[in-house]
Amino acid sequence: MKLEKVVIANRGEIALRILRACRQLGIKTVAVHSTADRDLMHVKLADETICIGPAAAKESYLNIPSIIAAAEATGANAIHPGYGFLSENADFAEMVEKSGFIFIGPTADTIRLMGDKVSAKKAMLKANVPCVPGSDGALGEDSKENKALAKKIGYPIIIKAAGGGGGRGMRVVRSEEELDDAIALTRREADMFFNNPAVYMEKFLENPRHIEFQVLSDSHGNAIYLGERDCSMQRRNQKVLEEAPAPFITEEQRRSIGERCAKACVDIGYRGAGTFEFLYENGEFFFIEMNTRVQVEHPVTEMITGIDIVREMIAVSAGAPLSIKQEDVVIKGHAFECRINAEDPRTFMPSPGEITRLHVPGGPGVRWDSHIYQTYKVPPHYDSLVGKLIVHDDDRNLAIERTKQALDEMVIDGIKTNIPLHKELLNDPVEVKGGVSIHYLEHKLKLSEVKSEE
Ligand code: ADP
Repeated sequence: MKLEKVVIANRGEIALRILRACRQLGIKTVAVHSTADRDLMHVKLADETICIGPAAAKESYLNIPSIIAAAEATGANAIHPGYGFLSENADFAEMVEKSGFIFIGPTADTIRLMGDKVSAKKAMLKANVPCVPGSDGALGEDSKENKALAKKIGYPIIIKAAGGGGGRGMRVVRSEEELDDAIALTRREADMFFNNPAVYMEKFLENPRHIEFQVLSDSHGNAIYLGERDCSMQRRNQKVLEEAPAPFITEEQRRSIGERCAKACVDIGYRGAGTFEFLYENGEFFFIEMNTRVQVEHPVTEMITGIDIVREMIAVSAGAPLSIKQEDVVIKGHAFECRINAEDPRTFMPSPGEITRLHVPGGPGVRWDSHIYQTYKVPPHYDSLVGKLIVHDDDRNLAIERTKQALDEMVIDGIKTNIPLHKELLNDPVEVKGGVSIHYLEHKLKLSEVKSEE
């Protein structure tokens, strides 16, 4: 089937990224936006625009009937959910398809399977993808049994909600005395927040790195992996600075894990772009979850492989086979992505407002994915990402130097941004060496707080 018109059910930089890919494929676009987003770049560029509700995301970007009505009213034949908002909502995907539109992503059943972490883990174990040692599914009510299991896994362990997300619904347990209460508490939270009281148990890894594998899969049984990204530089489970490939990961490890991820895609009938997230500790990978959508940090993979992930995901959703084979995927050089947020670089308080002056860096290997422009007003209602600076070069050291230079050239006035934090990180000797753990940034920030108090 040929896609003629796509509704972009998102906002900000990813909406613009999707619009660009559609335009290149000769597909018309419909921007659906809230009242606060009339001035967004992609709204100005889209072939058609429809205001779907007030600023509050619940009444606009999360408003399923309005989005589907917009697709109907404009005669679109597909909906791209981007990331966040409804992108991993299986009910939305189902409603989209039932209403006769293509959902640019996997089927509702696949989203459901991978959205439940217990069923996701089961599917991964079956596909031979290494998982964190833990319970064989959801935990029962038998305290003795749970204690025996925790003892077998070895403390510390972590109790996690099967339906959890966004870093919520988990609790670390360091001794047997705490176990029953921790299970009961996490169960209650899980029921309250995720409408699903099921919880499971995993070994708690103390100092892991976050490494994730990008995959692409079509509906003809073809799946490929595009190598991995390191997203360990995080604050409160939010990624700050990402890179690809991950430092110190060998070609052999890449192939071994990548092949298993690709095979898992075939096993579960996956369609589109997806990411397998792993914790990596002491040379071993442990699957934690799959993101069944395009990710914020997909450009670093695009830069090292030369593959347009968004274009590919759109094409396969319409039934086309993947245009690339595994042997065509060649990793070249190294790339970083700095997430530029409208926030105070020290306190992390959001800093919405008007961009009074904007100068973006350029030169070889420098890419700026952003919806902002001079006079644009960053609204206070949504997440604070205003752009992504992505920089590629022949090797990691060159890429660091080039990224620093690009950050130096960048001028965003009128709002505060975290550019100073990125500059500091790229000058940090531990980061320059590579391979920091997921706790590194929080520790570093705590230390500098102590220093500034002294
Ligand atoms: P979510 O869907 O909420 O993001 P994840 O399963 O991806 O949940 O876990 C989020 C984060 O919690 C991980 O990136 C990691 O920092 C931490 N975490 C999850 N499971 C473990 C574990 N077994 N050991 C150590 N940390 C973990």
